[in-house]
Amino acid sequence: MTPKTFAALFAAPFLLFASGAGAAGDPAARSGADAFAQLDYLLATPTDERLATGAPGPGYWQQRADYDITVTLDDEEQRIEGRETITYHNNSPHDLPYLWLQLDQNRFRRDSDDMLTKTAPDFAQLSYGALASLLERRRFEGGVSIEGVTDARGEPLPHTVNRTMMRIDLPAPLKAGESLRFSVAWSHNIIDATVVSARGGYEYFPKDGNYLYEIAQWYPRMAAYTDYAGWQHKQFLGRGEFTLELGDYDVAITVPADHVVAATGELQNADEVLTAEQRARFEAARSSDELVFVVTPEEAAANAREAAAGTRTWRFQAEDVRDFAFASSRKFIWDARRARSGERDVMAMSFYPNEAEPLWSQYSTAAIAHTIDVYSRYTFEYPYPVAISVNGPVGGMEYPMISFNKPRPYADGTYWDVRQKPGDKTWERSKYGLISVIIHEVGHNYFPMVVNSDERQWTWMDEGLNTFLQFLTEQAWEEGYPSRRGEPAKMTEYMASATQVPIMTNSESIHQFGNNAYGKPATALNILRESILGRELFDHAFREYARRWKFRRPTPADFFRTMEDASAMDLDWFWRGWFYGTGHVDVALGEVALYRVDSLDPEREKAWEQARAEAEEPSLSDQRNAAAERLLDRQPALKDFYNESDEYRVTPWDYAQYEKALDRLTERERALLDTAEHFYVVTFDNLGGLVTPLPLRISYEDGTVEELTVPAEIWRHNAEQVKKLFIRDREITAIEFDPYRSTADTNVANNAWPRKVVPSRFQLFKESEEPNPMRRNDEDAWSQPIR
Ligand SMILES: [Zn+2]
Repeated sequence: MTPKTFAALFAAPFLLFASGAGAAGDPAARSGADAFAQLDYLLATPTDERLATGAPGPGYWQQRADYDITVTLDDEEQRIEGRETITYHNNSPHDLPYLWLQLDQNRFRRDSDDMLTKTAPDFAQLSYGALASLLERRRFEGGVSIEGVTDARGEPLPHTVNRTMMRIDLPAPLKAGESLRFSVAWSHNIIDATVVSARGGYEYFPKDGNYLYEIAQWYPRMAAYTDYAGWQHKQFLGRGEFTLELGDYDVAITVPADHVVAATGELQNADEVLTAEQRARFEAARSSDELVFVVTPEEAAANAREAAAGTRTWRFQAEDVRDFAFASSRKFIWDARRARSGERDVMAMSFYPNEAEPLWSQYSTAAIAHTIDVYSRYTFEYPYPVAISVNGPVGGMEYPMISFNKPRPYADGTYWDVRQKPGDKTWERSKYGLISVIIHEVGHNYFPMVVNSDERQWTWMDEGLNTFLQFLTEQAWEEGYPSRRGEPAKMTEYMASATQVPIMTNSESIHQFGNNAYGKPATALNILRESILGRELFDHAFREYARRWKFRRPTPADFFRTMEDASAMDLDWFWRGWFYGTGHVDVALGEVALYRVDSLDPEREKAWEQARAEAEEPSLSDQRNAAAERLLDRQPALKDFYNESDEYRVTPWDYAQYEKALDRLTERERALLDTAEHFYVVTFDNLGGLVTPLPLRISYEDGTVEELTVPAEIWRHNAEQVKKLFIRDREITAIEFDPYRSTADTNVANNAWPRKVVPSRFQLFKESEEPNPMRRNDEDAWSQPIR
């Protein structure tokens, strides 16, 4: 701190100077203007379909695709054979000469773009799993065989497969507002999802010779046709997920007779596939807040021991879903209970083999019910009749009403409590890994299953929003819940890292995928909620977004605009910094200067100057010369007036000057000379580049503490450095920026004035005692340490 006084007489010219700073030509001023410029040129122009408010407009439309599917699961060959009739409703105002369908399984062809464009792995750290996956992709005969495409009369329709997309050419354009019915027959092999990360596939259990199937991206699906991009038929390269149309599904799934099937939608023929006792348990679960086993662990174990002959067909119906997935195995335990979404009852159900116990019956269905409860409060009521979690080979993947979740205990039933450290695999064997992944995947029912965003383009629109709500839901589970993502401090390492791309990057080109598309947007929304809008404004705006776009297809601009529209806050600086930029928050608390008013009173001011002078330490030379005899000590006659006078003595001339000065002042100006306040000027340096609000804690000499937040707009003139004036009647003893770690500031060492010590530990390294080659042949020798 540098104490200073300022003369009130110069206040007016000083203020003039201050308001003149930051004029055109000052590069720092330009960076402030850039940081707070409107996003207009980055966002699509509002249209009749998508309004400037962020809401769907009067011209909004979307296509619809209804599916009627029969499918057979071949448990001998691990194959799917299916036939579907799609009724495609062209609600667009355009005539369509052809239709595009997605053939996602073609990603697994050996000559797919995914395979051909895969770059080499890092052989310096290749895992066993990564090598097995590389070899399985080389061995597996993937890809869809299209057995036929026919119109409603059974006549063949010409079709062309381009990689993961198929074009069906129509004899005449499908007119705006008209519908078309056509059929596709197909088959494909099912991939081993324990080896290849595939969002669906099978797991084989050598112990009892059984398979467990999680089947997804298994039927030719309509590509989305939109007002903002036309056909969304960007090829599937494996990362950018699925952009789909909503519709109704009627699906008949034929499986081995003793399999239990879980699927999107409601079971239509329970009387054909369940025993009377199972049906009674299922009905009891509908109104039960306690877990009910529809298939008990003992029944599942017995089922797995001997395979029955023949097949059985399970029929499901689902309304207003964008996709359909199912799981099938004779190993499934099936539990169920009622979940509540506002006033609605939802059937929460879990399907898992005995290998998943004791974790799954304890936590899976409980986590589903909790997710629906919390998400509904922040968005809208869960619109579907069932919500399902299935344990199998897929790490964590979401589909409408059903999700696949991997965590399972060790064979002896023990498990970790929490993911130990980033990058390890213990979350797959942990309690909180299970609860978190179920919250996340069930939460995806809201984003993107119902708020139907374009996943092939924008991963963050579902993963980021969902991870944000996942954090709120985890924190509502128990105090101290070990959330991986959400707290700003958990994102600082990534935010300061080198290989970043903006959140607004196409899914396929994202670096550090989890941090970029899940962690950073979730953190951004948490900061927006806690530190910028506050909970009330944020929750209202976020709920408004969810409701506006429920069963519709939003774009990033619709989200950005709605959050501003519903909160009366210009957030363009925030979207620009967090979503379009790669800067990070690192604010350094710089110089703190204290100003007091110069009273002009010679008695007060000379006394203050004297006290200051006396408080100053003598220089090193002065100290060492202090005892030395000087010339004037020996020859006092050399002294004159100046050697004897006291420079701090108030002279009659000083009094006269003071009187003269007071005479020139008005009564009001004279009163200002008595101002007692402390004027603190605190310098903040923005080292990270990302503008941020400044949450501050100020401590005073009397022991009191004040907390306040300076809004981010303080950076609007100069985004690199700002000086903030604090007028206080007491002396400040300490100032701390971001005391509650709420801004994702990457370097806390420069956050306090006076600086705080950052305590840490270093570990001592013990050199390894590997036996030398001379000792390796002799076990007695190498089991003894070398001293
Ligand atoms: Zn996700």
